[in-house]
Amino acid sequence: MKILVTGGAGFIGSAVIRYVIHNTRDSVINVDKLTYAGNLENLSEVASSGRYVFERVDICNRAEIERVFVQNQPDVVMHLAAESHVDRSIKGPATFIETNVLGTYTLLEVTRNYWNSLDIHRKQDFRFHHISTDEVYGDLPYPTAEEVSCKSLFTETTPYAPSSPYSASKAGADHLVRAWMRTYGLPVLITNSSNNYGPYQFPEKLIPLIIYNALAGKPLPVFGAGDQIRDWLYVEDHAKALYTVITEGKAGETYNIGGHNEQLNIDVVQTVCNQLQQLLPPCENPNFITKHMVSKYCDLIEHVPDRPGHDRRYAVDASKIQRELGWQPEESFASGIHKTVKWYLDNQGWLQRVQDGSYQYEQEIYRS
Ligand code: NAD
Repeated sequence: MKILVTGGAGFIGSAVIRYVIHNTRDSVINVDKLTYAGNLENLSEVASSGRYVFERVDICNRAEIERVFVQNQPDVVMHLAAESHVDRSIKGPATFIETNVLGTYTLLEVTRNYWNSLDIHRKQDFRFHHISTDEVYGDLPYPTAEEVSCKSLFTETTPYAPSSPYSASKAGADHLVRAWMRTYGLPVLITNSSNNYGPYQFPEKLIPLIIYNALAGKPLPVFGAGDQIRDWLYVEDHAKALYTVITEGKAGETYNIGGHNEQLNIDVVQTVCNQLQQLLPPCENPNFITKHMVSKYCDLIEHVPDRPGHDRRYAVDASKIQRELGWQPEESFASGIHKTVKWYLDNQGWLQRVQDGSYQYEQEIYRS
């Protein structure tokens, strides 16, 4: 099978490509614009595979996307390319609307024309898989002490109520994808997953940001009281789930994907600090230069004003994908976070290079 993956140089897309190349006989065409968040170094272990091709293309560029389809003749599309950071979407929503809404529209139109040109067998087997987020559902009631055992969860039928420009743009894309099935018959799948963590995540997201700042002795920013709840999913579990959906999922269906790991943000930050403290205490860390007299990473925690419109709780009911497709997460939060912190410690050069690369990217955008 030839899989066209968009956004394959990003955090989750690269995990999907590594999974496919290492565990299957399928080939991958990676279509990525290489924004600040995309990094080909994430794919160095598969780049020399004869089953991997890279195309530096913007999904909004219709002519180029058409060329990629004609040249590569994919059997399925896994669409992950997106602007993905909520705080950036609050500062500047335009690129989120362009890539997440117009880019998805462009990709759907090119896919529809291509799909219509396929012979009957390839047409039947073709799938367009849109990778989306649980943030489209808005937020869940915050559980009181009495409700802990009967907490509400996002299901596939929870009404959409996005709160941020990011989640609104992803919701818009989900609606377009469903409409292309209903109106044109394009065989689509949608997955909505909870917060991912793991190796190769750009250090603007909570866990790698905390690790990056802690190692450099910089403040560790925590929004408000840090009492927001997220359901954490290890990225390699997500990659396996996505491959299960594209190969075994039923066209037209939506599957929620979650880790069954609800955690308060402040607890996540404390856990990361504790892991770092054990693995590389500040007194043994040559890069730990801080103005403050601190001996523990957690002393660097600083509570900052809360994000506008901040959702308080996300948690996913992933029973449908488990029941119908037999997928469930393998990693517990304890094992996943240990692997993750260890990976960033072993790959501090990567952390620094992606920060430097993103700075250069921003400068180029600013100049152009
Ligand atoms: P990411 O920001 O790490 O990667 C996004 C990738 O898309 C980058 O490689 C970037 O270069 C590429 N890209 C951006 N705009 C593009 C364009 N116009 N054309 C081509 N490529 C473009 O994101 P991620 O965390 O890997 O998320 C991947 C997908 O999964 C996104 O659609 C996101 O909404 C969704 N998602 C993410 C999470 C999470 O916790 N990270 C959770 C649920 C869903």
